[in-house]
Amino acid sequence: MNEKIFPLSDAQLREVIKKFPTPFHLYDEGTIKKNFRRLRETFSWAKNFREHFAVKATPNPAIVKILASDGAGTDCSSLAELLISERAGVIGEKIMLTSNDTPADEFKKALELGAIINLDDITHIDYLEKNAGLPQCISFRYNPADLMNEGNEIIGKPAEAKYGLTRKQIFDAYKISRDKGIKRFGLHTMVASNELETEIFLLTAKIMFELAVEIKNKIGIELEFVNLGGGFGIPYRPNEKPVDFRAVGEGIHELYEKILVSNGLDNVAIATESGRAMTGNAGWLVSTVIHEKNTYKNYIGLDSCMANLMRPAMYGAYHHITISGKENFPLTNNYDVTGSLCENNDKFAIDRKLPKIEIGDVLIIHDTGAHGHAMGFNYNGKLRSAELLLREDGKIEMIRRAETLDDYFATLNF
Ligand SMILES: *Cc1c(COP(=O)(O)O)cnc(C)c1O
Repeated sequence: MNEKIFPLSDAQLREVIKKFPTPFHLYDEGTIKKNFRRLRETFSWAKNFREHFAVKATPNPAIVKILASDGAGTDCSSLAELLISERAGVIGEKIMLTSNDTPADEFKKALELGAIINLDDITHIDYLEKNAGLPQCISFRYNPADLMNEGNEIIGKPAEAKYGLTRKQIFDAYKISRDKGIKRFGLHTMVASNELETEIFLLTAKIMFELAVEIKNKIGIELEFVNLGGGFGIPYRPNEKPVDFRAVGEGIHELYEKILVSNGLDNVAIATESGRAMTGNAGWLVSTVIHEKNTYKNYIGLDSCMANLMRPAMYGAYHHITISGKENFPLTNNYDVTGSLCENNDKFAIDRKLPKIEIGDVLIIHDTGAHGHAMGFNYNGKLRSAELLLREDGKIEMIRRAETLDDYFATLNF
C-alpha cells in the first residue's frame, strides 16, 4: 500500500483557491527533493553518478532549479527544453540532448550550450556535423530489440519502437565518430516506462554493461558513461508497490562489479534520465465540481478537462482522486468524472467509487506532477492552467500563470 496524501488541509486549500482559481496543478518542493535524494542514494556507490532530469515531465524552470540545486542536470529533447535548462542555469555537460528526428536548430543550440549529444540514429552523425559541428563527447541510443522481446504498455516492444540504433549500427557509429576525431563516448538506452519491477532495471543494466564490454573488446573504446534512461515508475494505484530503489541500486551495483569492473572498466559513470520518479507524486491537479449529471450513468463535471491531464484519456491511466475535506468519508457512490471537451474519452475516471459529491466540492487528482500539465493542448480552445509551487517553508508561488484568451488569439490573423 502507498498512502495518497495532499500537502494542504481543506481550509488551507480554500484560502489558496481564493487567490488562485481552479483548475491548477500544485507541486510540492519537499517531495521533489526527497525523490531526487532517494535516486542519488540508490547510485551512491557509483563514481560520478548523474541524474539528467527529463525536462519534458515538468517543463518549468522553477522545477528544474529545485533539482539542480541538489546537483541534478537535465535531459532535453527539444529546443524549448534546452532553453528551459539554460534559463534554469543548467548548462554544459549537465545537459544531455536525447531527442529523435532532431532538427538542426536543436543540435546547434545543444552544441552552443556544450551539452552531451546523444544520437538516435547512425545517419545523425553526418547530419550533426553538417548542420552544427561535432561535440567533444558523443553518445548513442541503443535499441535492444535483439535482446528484449517483452514490451510495456506505454513504450511498446523495442522492435516496434522508433528509437535508437540496432546492435550492428552501434559498433559502426562509434567507429565513424572516432574516425572523425571524437574522443569521449557514452552509451544510452531507454526501454522501460513507468516500470515498478526491479528485474527490468537489472536486465537493462546487464544488457548495457555487457555491450560496454563488447565495445571495449571489439573496437577499443572505453565508455565514459552508461545512461540507463528513465522509466522508474510510481504507484498510481493505492494498492501498487513503489519501486524498490534499494534492490535496484544493490542489483545494479553487483552487475557493475561483475561485468564492468572485472573487465577492466572501473571508470564508467552511471547516468539516469528520470522524469516521473522525480516529480510524478509531487503534483496534484486541483479542480472544482461544476456539474452533476444523472443519465444512463452518474457524471461529475469538473472545471478542467484532458487538456490539463491527458494520461487517463490517452493511456487509460489510473489517477487516484480524493475530495478535499472528505478524505475519510465512505465510498458510497459510483461516478464517471469528466472534463468539458467534445470528446467522449475526456474522463479522469470511469466507474470510480467516491464519497457523495456536491457541486462546489474540490477534487484532488493525484500524481499529476510528471507528464501532466506538460502534455496540455488547446483543443476546443481550452486554456492551460496555472502551476503553483508549495515551497518547503510553506509559501505558495505561482510558477506559471494560466493561459488567457488573449494568449489563445495571439497567433491568429484574420
Ligand atoms: C520520457 C523520457 C524520459 C523520462 O521518462 P520517465 O518515465 O518520466 O522517467 C527519459 N528519457 C527519454 C529519452 C525520454 O523520452
